[in-house]
Amino acid sequence: MSTYKILIVEDSPTMRQLIVFALKRIRGLTIVEANDGVDGLKKLSADRFDLILTDINMPIMDGLKLVSLVRNDPNYKAVPIVIITTEGASEDRERALALGANDYITKPIQTTQILDVAKRLLNITI
Ligand SMILES: [Mg+2]
Repeated sequence: MSTYKILIVEDSPTMRQLIVFALKRIRGLTIVEANDGVDGLKKLSADRFDLILTDINMPIMDGLKLVSLVRNDPNYKAVPIVIITTEGASEDRERALALGANDYITKPIQTTQILDVAKRLLNITI
C-alpha cells in the first residue's frame, strides 16, 4: 500500500481537527500539522510531502506568502497546494491561484470537498 504525506497549515486547531478527520478516510495517509506559514516551512524542510493544504489568514506568515515561497523553492516547487479560503474571499483565491496554488476549498469545510480535491491531487482513483 502506498503512503501519502500531507501537510496541513492552519492556525485554528478546530479547523485543523476537522480537516484531519476528513482526510483520515483516505487509507495510508500521514498527516503533519503546522500553526502558520513559518511552522509550515519548517516542517516542509524536515520531510517530503505529497500535498499541502494551507489556510490564507494566519499570524506570523499567511498562506499567500507560503504559496509564493513554496513555488519559488526548487525543492518543493512540484508539491500540489490546496488553499483553504472563506466563502466570498475570491480575491485571496485568485491571488493564491496566480501564485501557483493548484486548487482551493472553502469554509465551512465539507468532508466530501476535501476528499475529492485531495484524492484528485494525490492521483487516488478509488
Ligand atoms: Mg486562519
